[in-house]
Amino acid sequence: MISRHLRAAKLPGEGLKGILRPCFHCKESIVVSQWDEWNGFLLRCPHCRLAHGKNWKVKPILWASFFVSAFSFFFTVRPRKALLLVSIYLGIGFAGNMIIDREIFPQWLEFIAVVFFLFTPLLMNGALIVVHESRLGRSPNSKKSQVISLLEEILGFFN
Ligand SMILES: [Zn+2]
Repeated sequence: MISRHLRAAKLPGEGLKGILRPCFHCKESIVVSQWDEWNGFLLRCPHCRLAHGKNWKVKPILWASFFVSAFSFFFTVRPRKALLLVSIYLGIGFAGNMIIDREIFPQWLEFIAVVFFLFTPLLMNGALIVVHESRLGRSPNSKKSQVISLLEEILGFFN
């Protein structure tokens, strides 16, 4: 379980806003912001140093990736990064649109590029779910079976 790169949770009494939650692993109290609590974002527990957070529900995230596209990053990464990703996505979309308007590339190639572009948020969120769940730990599934069950969810979606 890698928790070195995670933001550290605060201890109660450090005068920070948030709500008291028992750590996912050791059950000691830590302070979690309301936004992190809603989204289940990972924090490093100051007591046991493991990742605290919530298991993500795969289906709602995939549906969101499908319907609100890049805006679904607000469910999978913290707001500042999500905003950055949305700007990059819209930037690429805008540039791509201009390129398509000029009719430089064959139509089939543009079609493949557009499809790939539309599915990027879904693929990225899928990868983020696997990373999130494996960092959180205490999952009975191996990484491989997590990826397989995720693929099953995605395929089940188009049936
Ligand atoms: Zn803990």
